[in-house]
Amino acid sequence: MIILLIGPPGCGKGTQAELLCNEKQFVQLSTGDMLRAEIAAESELGKEVEAIMATGKLVPDQLMVDMIAGQLDVHHNDTNIILDGFPRTKAQAIALDSMLASRGLKIDYAIEMRADVEELVKRIEKRAKDTGGARADDNETVLRNRVKVYEEQTAPILPHYSHKGVHKIVDGCQPVTDVATKINDILTS
Ligand code: AMP
Repeated sequence: MIILLIGPPGCGKGTQAELLCNEKQFVQLSTGDMLRAEIAAESELGKEVEAIMATGKLVPDQLMVDMIAGQLDVHHNDTNIILDGFPRTKAQAIALDSMLASRGLKIDYAIEMRADVEELVKRIEKRAKDTGGARADDNETVLRNRVKVYEEQTAPILPHYSHKGVHKIVDGCQPVTDVATKINDILTS
């Protein structure tokens, strides 16, 4: 089963992906985590993307498509995969369709996690405090920019999944366990 988690920054994608990994043996492919690992490793790629990520803009499509294609190959034996943070643009969504088709795979659910922007600001401020400011993009100004980028570039891909009949919506502002129950209901429906 392949699931996409799509939603604005701070909506709880990572938390829900982690729960699915722990409870249902899913493999989480988080492009944000992969990019942060590249930055931490001070790789060439990390150096290339660090400034982009710090402003909340998106990393170029081709780079992300290559990264996910590589990960799908690494995980070719895994049957349950969550894509957390990919695709984020129409070009990525189209590239994903063809890379899945060429591997005999398809998207089972594209789960949109909705959340109100003021709630996101509160959550990101809490995450910045809890992690000692570990992420350069966890502050209100960058967060508001990331939400704008989400609305302009990522939300427009949702109709693509509605047309395929795989688009599902959950309210990301509910408590973590309630959101997890809703997602579980979708996966077992
Ligand atoms: P995230 O951890 O998913 O919130 O991602 C953090 C940052 O990584 C984003 O604000 C983007 O700069 C970059 N990023 C992660 N995934 C993608 C993607 N699929 N396309 C472009 N940029 C991405």
